[in-house]
This record gives sequence, C-alpha cells and structure tokens, in this order.
Amino acid sequence: MGSLVGQTSGLPSDLSIKNLKMYDALTGRFTFPCPARGETRVTLSAFRQLERLPGAAHPAVFQVLFACACGEEHEGLVTHDDLDWAPLGLQGGVFYNLMTARLDVVDSELSDLAARRIQAGEWPWTFFCYPEEQPRPVFPSSFFLLAPGDGSLGLAVRCPACQKTSVNLVSHEHVDLPFHNDPEVGVVEHVFSDDVTRTLQEFRAELYSASFDTRRLGL
Ligand SMILES: [Zn+2]
Ligand SMILES: [Zn+2]
Repeated sequence: MGSLVGQTSGLPSDLSIKNLKMYDALTGRFTFPCPARGETRVTLSAFRQLERLPGAAHPAVFQVLFACACGEEHEGLVTHDDLDWAPLGLQGGVFYNLMTARLDVVDSELSDLAARRIQAGEWPWTFFCYPEEQPRPVFPSSFFLLAPGDGSLGLAVRCPACQKTSVNLVSHEHVDLPFHNDPEVGVVEHVFSDDVTRTLQEFRAELYSASFDTRRLGL
C-alpha cells in the first residue's frame, strides 16, 4: 500500500460521480467496485487511506483505499457529501432523487434526529487533538489514515481547527457509528510532520510502538 498522491487518473466526470449512490444509510456501508466480486460493501472503518482529489470541487471527491472482504485492498471514489453527511441522513436530497419514497421517509427521520442531537451539543464524530491538548469535533473527511490492530483502530486525523495531525486509537464503532464516541481514546504523543509520505511512515512506526496515552473525549 503506497501513498495515493498523484494517482488521480481514475477520476470520472462530475456527472457520473453525482449519480453514484455510494452510501446506504440503512446498513451504514459504502459500495465500491471489487475486481474479484464485482461490487463490495464496506464500513468506514474498512477505509485505510483517504485523500481529497485536487480539482473536483462540486462535489469534492475523495480517493480512498479500502480493505475489501476479498482480502485485497482496492481504490474507490467517494464524494464529500457521502463521506460526511450521508451517515447522518443530512444529504440534502440532491444525490437521492432516484430513491424510493420509503427510503426518503427514513432519511428525513434520520436527518431530524441528527439535527436535534447536534443542536443539543452532541457531535457525530470527535477526536483528541494532541498539539492542542483538547478534544475536537470532526467529520470523516478529516480522517486520512486508518489501521486496524488488536481489536482497535489507529486513526490519523487532520485537525480542522489547527491543521495538525493527531493519531488516536479508537474502537471501530467510534468511526462507523455517528454519535458513538468512545469515552476515552488512546493518543500518540508525537507531533506528526505535514508531509503525507512521512506521516504515513511515522503513523506506522508510532502505532506499533505502543506509545499511547489515554485522554477523555468529552467536549
Ligand atoms: Zn475485493
Ligand atoms: Zn487541533
């Protein structure tokens, strides 16, 4: 698994990506093509790398590397909306014009519930920013490296507030289920470089060195 930097040739036109229904709110899974199975459905915690592609802004598109049930890792594309808003049912309907009336109803119920919880001060996703020494709300588009190990998940996050990288050790549910925030997470006490390739190396090195400290996530 190398860096995804520069591998942008597979980007389809805006039109074709807008018409893809990548996230299913009922199962919490993203659909991607698989060379062995034709199609595969994975949760967010099966993502391994995320990288926002330059150029495509409406919608912004992320190239992801994900661990497939066939045993291989594949690349796929996901829109910003599918990544951050679809899990909350807050997609705005643009991508879902072709959906059935029944799913539309389910979506609006999810949407109301998510909106109420955010207004009440609950955040769908949080992480602990090590450079700032405080928990921060975040969306999945700020996640950029994920690595499973020992039942938990190493998660590299680019802080939306200070732009620095932090690595947390979290549960799969912390990533996959909006509003499921681990009460405590492991935090790597290391300030990561801004360079993606170096960060990847540091991420792996720190992840297996067990130099985690525990922080509470309550915002
Ligand atoms: Zn596969
Ligand atoms: Zn920060």
